[in-house]
Amino acid sequence: MKTDLLIGNEWRSAPKRYCLTNPATEEPLAEVADAGEAEIDAAVQAARACLDSKEWRELPARKRGQLLYRIAELLEQRAPEIAEVETKNNGKPLFESKIDVAMAIETFRYYAGWADKLTGDTLPVSGNFFAYTLREPVGVVGAIVPWNFPLNLASWKVAPALAAGCTVVLKPAHETPLTALLLGEIAVAAGLPPGALNVVPGPGATAGAALVRHRLVDKIAFTGSTEVGQWIMREAAGTVKRLTLELGGKSPNIIFGDADLAAAVRGAQNGIFYGKGEVCAAGSRLLVERAVHDQVVEQLAERAKKLTPGDPFDKNTRLGAIVSKRQQETVLSYIAAGEKDGARLVAGGKPAKVNGKGYYVEATVFDGAKPGMKIVDEEIFGPVLSVLTFENEAEGIQLANRSMYGLAAGIWTKDVQKAHRVARAIKAGTVWVNTYNFYDPAAPFGGYKFSGFGRDLGREALDHYTEVKTVWVGL
Ligand code: NAD
Repeated sequence: MKTDLLIGNEWRSAPKRYCLTNPATEEPLAEVADAGEAEIDAAVQAARACLDSKEWRELPARKRGQLLYRIAELLEQRAPEIAEVETKNNGKPLFESKIDVAMAIETFRYYAGWADKLTGDTLPVSGNFFAYTLREPVGVVGAIVPWNFPLNLASWKVAPALAAGCTVVLKPAHETPLTALLLGEIAVAAGLPPGALNVVPGPGATAGAALVRHRLVDKIAFTGSTEVGQWIMREAAGTVKRLTLELGGKSPNIIFGDADLAAAVRGAQNGIFYGKGEVCAAGSRLLVERAVHDQVVEQLAERAKKLTPGDPFDKNTRLGAIVSKRQQETVLSYIAAGEKDGARLVAGGKPAKVNGKGYYVEATVFDGAKPGMKIVDEEIFGPVLSVLTFENEAEGIQLANRSMYGLAAGIWTKDVQKAHRVARAIKAGTVWVNTYNFYDPAAPFGGYKFSGFGRDLGREALDHYTEVKTVWVGL
């Protein structure tokens, strides 16, 4: 596959290259061009030139939609290969990568349908005027994405941006650029004009920062940590950039005493261990009503112990390798903090290897966790669950909202009134009731509080890729 930079539909080398490691085998995987400031500038110039070109500006919206359908079709044709690359680069089980690729395809199809359905309004203004609004593309979009869902999160930004008539410079995470490059290859094959989508792997602190500061970038669509999001917000002020920030989370998954306990325990397990816990919406704080606490913890610990790390290419594996050695060390340091702070380790807690290699961490469950502990207050981004106990609905809600984050939440109860009551009371962008970790291109996703602002997916995302222009005509 291509490992240079995609700029203006050409593959360009860079003065620097860097080596990727397969986190499951610790073997070298690929050598990739490393964008610096000059390469970011070239990519932005290409995106700008495309945005201003007759070819892109005058392309009928329906034709733009057809290009997105074509991208979806080509992704589908190469889906098995793309899923394999994602697994080798990220360490996630192959069955999860297949789900990621399927969702990226759905996302392109969903936004393909929107391309010719973005409309303005006619306005009932006073006086002898005809007034209306136009929805125009926001301009050049810098899309910056993390390493946990490399292709999927790129598609969440690239598809609505192109549908709205924007052009894009995509900077994948330094650790996981490969499927973004494949997406670039596919976009060229689908017939996207030069500069509509540029793909430039590079380090956040240099390549990402250059994109954030560039005067010709109109909007940054960012998914990543809260810390980097805050930095981007400050830095983007210099050029008054539009921003959407999808940031971190520490989502509460709440089990009430009246829940279907078997389903709730399965939901708690999938909520934290799917994607090795490297999921922004992971249900990493499990809140359990006192009456069912012992039962839930016992069942969960039993399940976690059986969930052994495995070769991501084995079809039975449900817990893959952590994305990098560095992230493995971070996760292990949180486990050590949990033990030091007095939480009770009931499953896992250790690093692991598969066939003597890889950056794995066991499925880990802490009971007796309390606010104020690092494992409760901070995002770990690994397979570590903290179990807290509450006495009643009011305390459950209070505990759920006791976090700087507000990305997602889960509620397990058979009481329909309680379900809706609690869903309203929780400050989070997504609430799942009697289910967890489901996504769809039609369902907006994003955060409250320090989890960011703006929404990916759904009709809502399109608002963030358009400007509204009001036109007054004197009659
Ligand atoms: P990160 O913030 O370190 O990096 C994210 C991206 O930003 C990468 O591409 C990185 O290269 C880039 N970057 C880093 N410093 C930058 C800078 N100064 N300027 C511009 N770009 C810069 O996050 P990560 O460790 O890759 O990912 C994990 C984080 O992402 C977690 O906090 C997780 O919750 C969050 N996340 C959020 C969502 C969501 O939808 N809310 C989804 C997935 C991940």
